[in-house]
Amino acid sequence: MDLPVDEWKSYVFQKWSLLPKSIQVTISTAETLSDIFLHSSLLLQPEDEMFLQNLSRGYLVEKDPNAPLFYREEGNKKFQQKDYMGATVLYSKGISHSRPHTADISLCYANRSAALFHLGQHEMCLKDIMRAQMHGYPERLQPKMMLRKAECLVTLGRRQEASQTISDLESSFSAKPTLAAAQFQILQTNLCRLKMKAQEKESLTETFPAALTKALEDMDLKGENGQVPSASSSVSLRTDPLRGRYLVATKDILPGELLVKEDAFVSVLHPGEMPPLRHLESKWDTRVTNGDLYCHRCLDHTLATVPCDGCSYAKYCSHDCMQQAWDLYHSVECSLGGLLLTLGVFCHIALRSTLVARFEDASKVIRKLCSEIRNRDTCSPERETLVQTLTCDLGGESENKGKMLEPPVPGCDLNGKYESNYNAVFHLLPHTGNHSPEHRFLCALSVSALCRRLEAAGCYKPAAAVPPGSGSELDVWGVAMLKHVLQLQCNAQAITTIQHTGSKENSVTNSRQVRLATGIFPVISLLNHSCSPNTSVSFISNVATVRASQQIGKGQEILHCYGPHQSRMRAAERQQKLRSQYFFDCSCAACQNEKHSAATGPRWEAFCCRSCGALMQGDDVLICGSTSCMESVSRDHLISRLQDLQQQVGMARKLLRNDKPERAIQLLLGCQRDAQSFLSGEHSLVGEMEDDLAQAYAALGDWQKSATHLQKSLQVVEVRHGPSSVEMGHELFKLAQLFFNGFAIPEALNTIQKAEKVLMVHYGPWNDEIQELQKMKSCLLDLPPIPAGPSVQGPNVFFQ
Ligand SMILES: [Zn+2]
Ligand SMILES: [Zn+2]
Ligand SMILES: [Zn+2]
Ligand SMILES: [Zn+2]
Repeated sequence: MDLPVDEWKSYVFQKWSLLPKSIQVTISTAETLSDIFLHSSLLLQPEDEMFLQNLSRGYLVEKDPNAPLFYREEGNKKFQQKDYMGATVLYSKGISHSRPHTADISLCYANRSAALFHLGQHEMCLKDIMRAQMHGYPERLQPKMMLRKAECLVTLGRRQEASQTISDLESSFSAKPTLAAAQFQILQTNLCRLKMKAQEKESLTETFPAALTKALEDMDLKGENGQVPSASSSVSLRTDPLRGRYLVATKDILPGELLVKEDAFVSVLHPGEMPPLRHLESKWDTRVTNGDLYCHRCLDHTLATVPCDGCSYAKYCSHDCMQQAWDLYHSVECSLGGLLLTLGVFCHIALRSTLVARFEDASKVIRKLCSEIRNRDTCSPERETLVQTLTCDLGGESENKGKMLEPPVPGCDLNGKYESNYNAVFHLLPHTGNHSPEHRFLCALSVSALCRRLEAAGCYKPAAAVPPGSGSELDVWGVAMLKHVLQLQCNAQAITTIQHTGSKENSVTNSRQVRLATGIFPVISLLNHSCSPNTSVSFISNVATVRASQQIGKGQEILHCYGPHQSRMRAAERQQKLRSQYFFDCSCAACQNEKHSAATGPRWEAFCCRSCGALMQGDDVLICGSTSCMESVSRDHLISRLQDLQQQVGMARKLLRNDKPERAIQLLLGCQRDAQSFLSGEHSLVGEMEDDLAQAYAALGDWQKSATHLQKSLQVVEVRHGPSSVEMGHELFKLAQLFFNGFAIPEALNTIQKAEKVLMVHYGPWNDEIQELQKMKSCLLDLPPIPAGPSVQGPNVFFQ
């Protein structure tokens, strides 16, 4: 998804393999990015562009005039089945295919307002009603929608507006005697009911969904950092030949302290992992992707998206976001949707970075660079540096960012300030020499194709003052984009969110981290990697926060994990991953330790002896660790038993998903007995089975048994990830839900406190789960003393 689609990749690799040796050598040994770009660009033939264009057509990103009706009807079906969430998304799809000021768009908005009303989203419902009217909602259908508007206003406690709407409605009734008698009567009755409700209603305080804005405002850095404005005063930017640029603690830091809060320089939403439509039977896609649920600019979750006027792909949380995206980059990107999806997220980010940079007053690096090259005769020191940065990419770079131009620290401005801007982005290392020649060719050819399309689409207009023969500004643009694409392999940051799954009946939500977008964060890019990092990164919209996940002493380096984490992979696997993607050998504390204790391997993968239960040791043949025991067994045998077991557990999960918890429990209990004879009690599969059992019992409403199993799963998670890990936080959250549902008040309060403490360190106070824990707590503390007699059913209100 980050890289171009497979078809284009293999096409380019084949093209590469068929090139004459001499040309391959020229490109492989080209010393600068601009040589690589120019040589490759010359090889891009019209038939290559044609091939790419055909691939791009597989994505339906234009507005299709026949789609709105289809989606509206599909949405209506869901609506009738009372699946309002499903209906909302389908109406949204209809909206994104409609042109502005058409009956299509106004009808879809109106229908979506009805679905949102049923979902209790009254503010959003009102907005959609307004949008329906703005786009010319038919007069004859107005009364029904106005009634909904009045109902929303009443519910929200906006009495004055409500009575205004009601009296408008009344006067429109008397003005329209054409309305069918029956219809008129229904409306009249509803109106009366509503008038009564409006009178009864005490004036409610308005509740705007301002939590998110508040969350971001409240999250302040401790003290200002004059050198790195997005970081707190507890850290400082350093550079040395071995580590390159890095951040270090200037004082003792406590767990949970906010160290960096940085807006993405740019971010691009992931289109989702679904195959493009050409592989499908139906012309229109009814599947829900992240692209339907999150704003393409700010990444906020939203049910009521507003589409781009020009394409069906880009959707936003509000008209404001749409306008901002349009002004900053989408006016150029809009006609390139299919191509950008074909070329992948990295190319898209590269383009967007350069587009955003053109509007950034602070650095204007690109523009400066272009004008410097245009005026080749005048030789300014600034130009020297910029041309140097563009050309000095090959060789001379150690993987850990050594041997950079100095002083000042690369990416800093003349005052030594490192800001989250294009200048900083531009100085991230592309590691050009470390990428394979084929990969560089793929990136260069993809960017060339993009440049040609930009030129053809009229997005690129040569400045009037370009003297003939002074080199093309478009080429400079291309080289800059190629640099970004190569940088991204080591510097792209996955923007993630926690999605909750779990049915209403289940009452216990499972959380899972999903990748939402890819972004560039120049300050976070300063952090070096460790397989057991001392920080935790999380996101609200497209703002990243880095918090200390443990105590960090003054002078210690601030480290985060690039992906290969100690608790998820063995040392060898991590090393391999870091070498191939990031081009370095890790020598972090975790890797050092594992080198010395390689014999046993991690406890969550350990096998135990079938006769005495001690841990087994060895490579191909495992021998019991107890000296008094003679047991031995081949690893292959144990691995195949493990695979069988995993398959059984998979079947149990399927039963669970299909609402057959009793049968799932039976199967899982059998699996447990089997596991005891060869897996250590701390094996991750043992923990997962306990978690599954907990879910199955929760589905049956047996909170007590469920909690017992979840507590066992918690022990395994603790061994693997540590007592204050984010994984532990999510498990504790689940346990708190169970105790809450079972009205086990002291246990619930105790677990809520533990969960809050752990989650606070990683996410800060505005995390969804923390908010929910606090709601549970206040609910429990407000409870009247429980009367005698069993209370079977727990309140389900907090669990979606
Ligand atoms: Zn937005
Ligand atoms: Zn568009
Ligand atoms: Zn390591
Ligand atoms: Zn033994």
